[in-house]
Amino acid sequence: MTTLVLEPADKKKKAPRSTGEFAPELAYFEPEALKYPKGERIFAWVKEQGIPYRMTTSHNRITNLPGETELEQYKIAKRTLVVGVRKTLKFDTSKPSAEYAIPVATGCMGHCHYCYLQTTLGAKPYVRVYVNTDDILKQAKQYIEERKPEITRFEAACTSDPVGLEHISGSLKEYIEFMGKEEFGRLRFVTKYHHVDPLLDAKHNGHTRFRFSVNAAYVIKNFEPATSRFEERIEAAGKVAKAGYPLGFIVAPIIWHDGWEQGYTELFEKLKNTLPEEATRDLTFELIQHRFTKTAKTVIEKRYPKSKLEMDEAKRQYKWGRWGQGKYVYPKDQAEALREFITEQIFEKFPKAKLEYFT
Ligand code: SF4
Repeated sequence: MTTLVLEPADKKKKAPRSTGEFAPELAYFEPEALKYPKGERIFAWVKEQGIPYRMTTSHNRITNLPGETELEQYKIAKRTLVVGVRKTLKFDTSKPSAEYAIPVATGCMGHCHYCYLQTTLGAKPYVRVYVNTDDILKQAKQYIEERKPEITRFEAACTSDPVGLEHISGSLKEYIEFMGKEEFGRLRFVTKYHHVDPLLDAKHNGHTRFRFSVNAAYVIKNFEPATSRFEERIEAAGKVAKAGYPLGFIVAPIIWHDGWEQGYTELFEKLKNTLPEEATRDLTFELIQHRFTKTAKTVIEKRYPKSKLEMDEAKRQYKWGRWGQGKYVYPKDQAEALREFITEQIFEKFPKAKLEYFT
């Protein structure tokens, strides 16, 4: 027997709700952070929003998060904002997309099942923002000076999704305007959020490449909760292109799933049909196939036990890593099929676009 569930006609027609900005449920402050104007400003905002807050001696050691179980604590951590002073000013490298990773924030409110922050942040998944951006930019300047006249590229989204935090920190705009004045410096970041309005009037001087993470509908639907919808991201991409930013898309992680050819065809069709003309003038694509480590698999299975994310070692090829722990990627023939198909799609729909890499 089948049960028919009838939905009121007006419910069916309703446009999907806009994805809200990140609203933390709890905040921690290092006392030192309150000595900086940005720290003071965020503190005032937290109080104004009525967000409960606590003090902490170090943004690296938040030990008293509420929650009965590990999973509960994880979920709360993802909605916890920690405001601190960045002490490590040596930047990590960030191949293949840039020379250096520039710190803006660490941790993200998104719940993408496959996110590598699951492993890299381990027990510290809360969202940290840094208030001493002047020190960070001074360090960036030094790296630029050391390499000039070579261009130095800085990736701002290695450990977070900074666009989704801009309404709280305002740091990205500072970085964009700083790089706008640097002849030999470039900024780039990627986002799954559409909250780009505060960045549209930034004086970027074409020195920041604004990228959006996009994917087949199956991937976004099943593995990217708590991020902006595809349509929202594309609308934001149009705004960003109209504001004169060089634009890019990162298709990551590329996932082999039933109907992947159709899924990725539709993705590029939708991009082509929706993007304004400005968006295609200086457009780049970066392609990253799905990979996982054994550690990541264990963590993901604990945090998202119902996830449909395929992580079967037997179906994958092992790729040795530089630091001991290797990764499971798709076997050569599958990876090649994905690369070829998606590359063709891109060049068919965006003949002038630049494909930066497939990895
Ligand atoms: S939006 Fe990006 S940084 Fe945030 S959870 Fe998803 S993949 Fe990770």
